[in-house]
Amino acid sequence: MTRHTVHIVGAGPAGLMAAERLAAAGHGVVVHEAMPSPSRKLLMAGRGGLNLTHTEPLDGFLGRYGVARAVVSDWLERLSPTDLIGWTEGLGQATFVGSSGRVFPRAMKASPLLRAWLARLAAAGVELRTRSRWTGFEDGGLRFDTPEGQRIERPDAVVLALGGASWPRLGSDAKWTSWLEARGVSVTPFKPSNVGFDRPWSSVFIDRFAGQPLKPVALTHGQTTIRGEALVTRYGIEGGAVYALSAGLRDAIAADGAATLVVDLRPDLSIDALSARLAKPRGKDSVTNWLRKAGGLSPVAVGLLREIPGDLPMGADKLARRIKAVRLTLTGVQGLDRAISSAGGVALDQVDQGLMLKAIPGVFVAGEMLDWEAPTGGYLLQASLASGAVAAAGATAWLARV
Ligand SMILES: Cc1cc2nc3c(=O)[nH]c(=O)nc-3n(C[C@H](O)[C@H](O)[C@H](O)COP(=O)(O)OP(=O)(O)OC[C@H]3O[C@@H](n4cnc5c(N)ncnc54)[C@H](O)[C@@H]3O)c2cc1C
Repeated sequence: MTRHTVHIVGAGPAGLMAAERLAAAGHGVVVHEAMPSPSRKLLMAGRGGLNLTHTEPLDGFLGRYGVARAVVSDWLERLSPTDLIGWTEGLGQATFVGSSGRVFPRAMKASPLLRAWLARLAAAGVELRTRSRWTGFEDGGLRFDTPEGQRIERPDAVVLALGGASWPRLGSDAKWTSWLEARGVSVTPFKPSNVGFDRPWSSVFIDRFAGQPLKPVALTHGQTTIRGEALVTRYGIEGGAVYALSAGLRDAIAADGAATLVVDLRPDLSIDALSARLAKPRGKDSVTNWLRKAGGLSPVAVGLLREIPGDLPMGADKLARRIKAVRLTLTGVQGLDRAISSAGGVALDQVDQGLMLKAIPGVFVAGEMLDWEAPTGGYLLQASLASGAVAAAGATAWLARV
């Protein structure tokens, strides 16, 4: 096999996975990273425990990718959730499955995994150039700003893995969109995904409860109900169960200016069971205490009930119905700066099965810069890493043909 040179732009999970597979296929690999150090977003993800993937059955797993399901299904054939667990363990990082089926490294952070991975990549001959920022196409090559000045690179193939548009201060600032559009690539505008929503609270509620979790809750938007946790914030509400509904809520707010989120504060009790508990005499308890004792509600849950305009319904049945369906009107979406991920990016019909841009032969795209989205739960890293493996396979197959 002829040894080719492949340059990868972006040292996040997608770019590094592409580098690993391309080096294993015998190519000379150079990775350019704009920031002074690689994979800052991966390291940030590690602060929350680093949820690598999920153990749910494949059908449910793929359902998390919505309209991108079929495409991501192909990616997972290259790197399945089981493969990803094996890969992590191969880097000396034992994993475990949390109670929700989510998979984490035992270390619960990304730094040991990243350190081991970078060492393995260096041993495989991968060259990592930090502070090497891609700034566009020029003279049939790629132009980079580097500490030594501007450089034009003309490798045999390129993998772009520049990330999406969330948390831009970690490196993925989406400045590349116009450069690709100028070359005829259609890029869907970025939107925040896995993000919090605005809900104007009273100042009393903010002062007492901002930062407190609502758990367990079941949240419903439209036909979809998610059980889990939410977090009250100064601006409104965020957290895992909210993120799982965030695509639908975001799109509803864009269309109608507001969206209704229905919160079930006692998801483990039926209306009848809750109503029976609330039918017992209140005695000398204040309403708040009685809601805590008989209703089993946390102080923040009682506070939330009181945020709904008007008096609390007093009949046991009506009150039970209210507790199991608190309707919150969400009025806005937090921005990309605070979103865990983004929707939008290079449209999936712009690439072939090997993730090569149809408009620019020899240039491949991987990771969150492609237009797909998924909730938190390990689905983001799984698809980013798997797409890196697909781009590497696509580039290897293409180089063998040209
Ligand atoms: C707070 C937070 C927590 C998260 N937790 C989880 C989690 O637990 N589980 C999960 O699955 N996902 C999680 N994610 C999402 C996950 O981190 C991303 O989906 C993943 O990092 C995307 O990988 P990527 O390689 O496509 O892009 P990125 O990780 O964004 O990497 C892109 C790289 O490209 C570089 N780059 C950008 N522009 C240029 C340029 N012009 N020249 C050179 N380099 C450039 C960037 O600096 C960056 O290093 C979390 C994200 C955040 C923000």
